Amino acid sequence: MFKIYQCFLHERGINVGEKEKSKGQKLMDEIGYKTSNAWEKIPDKDKIFSYCEDYKAFLDTGKTERECVKEIIERAEKLGYKDLDEIIDKKSTLNAGDKVYRNIRNKAIILAVMGKKPLEKGTRMIGAHIDAPRIDIKQNPLYENTDMAFFKTHYYGGIKKYQWLAIPLSLHGVIIKKDGETVEIRVGEDENDPVFTITDLLPHLAKDQMEKKLTEAVSAEAMNALVGSMPYDDKEVKSKVKLNILKILNEKYGITEEDFLTSELELVPAFKAKDVGFDRSMIGAYGQDDRVCAYTSFTALFDVQNPEYTSICVLTDKEEIGSVGNTGAESRLLEDFMADLCFLSSENYSDILLRRCLNNSIMLSADVNAAVDPNFEGTHDKYNAAYLGKGIAILKFSGSRGKAGASDAHAELLAKIRKVFNENDVVWHTSELGAVDKGGGGTIAMYIANLGVDVVDCGVPVLSMHAPFEITSKADVYSAYKGYKAFYEKLD
Ligand code: MN
Ligand code: MN
Repeated sequence: MFKIYQCFLHERGINVGEKEKSKGQKLMDEIGYKTSNAWEKIPDKDKIFSYCEDYKAFLDTGKTERECVKEIIERAEKLGYKDLDEIIDKKSTLNAGDKVYRNIRNKAIILAVMGKKPLEKGTRMIGAHIDAPRIDIKQNPLYENTDMAFFKTHYYGGIKKYQWLAIPLSLHGVIIKKDGETVEIRVGEDENDPVFTITDLLPHLAKDQMEKKLTEAVSAEAMNALVGSMPYDDKEVKSKVKLNILKILNEKYGITEEDFLTSELELVPAFKAKDVGFDRSMIGAYGQDDRVCAYTSFTALFDVQNPEYTSICVLTDKEEIGSVGNTGAESRLLEDFMADLCFLSSENYSDILLRRCLNNSIMLSADVNAAVDPNFEGTHDKYNAAYLGKGIAILKFSGSRGKAGASDAHAELLAKIRKVFNENDVVWHTSELGAVDKGGGGTIAMYIANLGVDVVDCGVPVLSMHAPFEITSKADVYSAYKGYKAFYEKLD
């Protein structure tokens, strides 16, 4: 009777005792491949949740590349990291175990822990980016129309413009005054701060707008942020509302209208990082592309003490617009940093030492993956896609169509990463960006590969990527941290 009952339960997926696996099941276990849900593979769920509390705090503190650099330096210095440029000024040297960082124009940062092996043998690097899609303020932004004051904006990165209307936005950045003094701006984050917004048309009058294609429904030049509506009390003045805003800014920050010409101001979503779901298993927040990989890689580096290979965390700017400029990955920022490490840790610096170092180095290009969204079918090949909750995703190649513009990692490198992840219980799966002809993209991998470094993309799957509120799984965030830590500490 019990036997019959047991079979009855088993058929319904309920296990009573251990039922012997069939021959085929055993064979499938032995030679088949299947992915796992990270929650089922990580025994200590408390660790996942507590790790993600600090991650959310980091997201709320670092809403721009500048704020991320500032926060990371503060954390690094507490752990004994020293400013590399001060070491150079002092003409000191670097030895195994030393921890250093370089601040690149307040927008990018590279951190390193010197290894026991000479740099000629290569390094272990993780590279992520700390810029995110946003709404930049134009250089001459302030104007008045129908008794309202607005900022002209210019969006940054690949956004779906309609997603950025009718939500609360906060203003972040710097204004450099005539005398060279820098004023830091951060308005809209404190509970008592005002916020800003870009208005949208009411549905009642949106007949024409609703008939347009999504790409044309919102004009970039119409994305003007509402910043005031109260007139300055003087009948003789023409733009009274504008003047009143200028007066408030002058009193608060000591700036004049011309100072906007030498500013960098960004509008970003004003809301804080939140738990998502009754089970609190996910995080919803702005800027998780790619601060999720930045956070998981620098916290993994912070755990590294006396590594075999020099361990490096590169956090770049401008990835969202093609890794351009001298704070982007296409520049020589990493090469220059490596040259300095080589120079400071060897008696006879030469160009060949730097080249050998780069050619023997391995990097995980840590950027987010587009997770399968079951509400939008046909965007992925389901057998080769990134999923929410299946751990960190490795992307062998990026690019579009016939792998155009791809950085394609070598199978030998994948084998090394696979080994270290499997040996350290890292939950991972492998993915492509999306279905072959659906679009595509790239990260910093191709620029790093050009330096001779072996590089593969490896990051956290995200839903609603580039939207003001992006979704990740806490189990994936923790898997990324575990994977990056194993990469630094264990990869031979
Ligand atoms: Mn990214
Ligand atoms: Mn992106």
